[in-house]
Order: sequence, then structure tokens, then C-alpha cells
Amino acid sequence: MYPRILAAVDGSNASTRAYREALRLSADQHATLRVAHVIDLGIALTPWALGALIDYETLETALRESGARILENALAEARTAGGEVETVLLETDVDDPAAEILAEATRWGADLIVLGTHGRHGLAHLILGSVAEGVVRRASLPVLLLRAPDGAQPAA
Ligand code: AMP
Repeated sequence: MYPRILAAVDGSNASTRAYREALRLSADQHATLRVAHVIDLGIALTPWALGALIDYETLETALRESGARILENALAEARTAGGEVETVLLETDVDDPAAEILAEATRWGADLIVLGTHGRHGLAHLILGSVAEGVVRRASLPVLLLRAPDGAQPAA
């Protein structure tokens, strides 16, 4: 039913839970699982970052390293579980990871997108974080959303 599953990960608790569900689902469906992380270079141009006296190159390098690490962890977890995944590192410079996730889903021909309700920056009192909401609002394919395990929601 879902031969191609795209999991979007950012290293948060909800994302990790969603990814684990995607691993189980892809094994059950004999599906190909692709794990995507979007490096949000737009963050480096926000007033917060510009005012933090960190130069753009340093922040960009940190974001790229962190993105690569998130995908390495996902790959390691899949191997431990005896599964295989493809990884893809994407980037946006307009602070819109949801658009990149959706573009990747279209390019790759995904049948299902899996992600967490909240991410590293999502507020627990909101029903959905902004990336999750952006994907759900604009997706023309099914989207599976998972909350973080109880007690592991991001701080509000
Ligand atoms: P958010 O909407 O930012 O609170 O995050 C909701 C979910 O979207 C997370 O649990 C991840 O599954 C996914 N997500 C958020 N940011 C990214 C990103 N930069 N790259 C890939 N997936 C992301």
C-alpha cells in the first residue's frame, strides 16, 4: 500500500518516535524508506542569528554538521534494527523546511510522509509545529504524524 515512505527527521523526540514507526511500517510493507533532513539556512539570516554575533559561515557549518549527524544516527538505528534506509540531506534558505520535504516527496514519488507533531522548535501547547502544519496543509499524499512519547514533549 505504501511502497515508498519518506520520513522527515530533525532529531527531536517526536521525530525519533515517528522515524521508529516508519522503520516498523516499512518493514511490514516491504517498502523503501527514505529519511530526509532539511538544513534550514534561513535560520542563519534571522534577526536572532544576526544579533547573536555568530558569523554566517560558522553557523552554516554547524547546521550542516548537525544535519549530517542526524542522518547518520538514523542510518545507525536502521542498521541496528536490521533494516535499510536511504538518506537525503536537503536545504532551504527561505526558512521553509516543509516546502523542501514536499518537493522531495514529489521528486522521489513518495506514497506516505511520516513526521512528528513537534520538532526541536515546536511549542508543546500548539497542536502542530510549523513544519508539521506546513506539510499537512500542502500535502496531496497521506501524512502520518506522531507525538513525542508522553513526558517527552518539547518545553513550552
Ligand atoms: P516542527 O513543525 O518544527 O515542530 O516539527 C515537526 C516535525 O517535522 C518534526 O518532528 C520532524 O519530523 C519534522 N521536521 C522539523 N524540522 C525538520 C527539518 N529541518 N528537516 C526534516 N524534518 C523536520
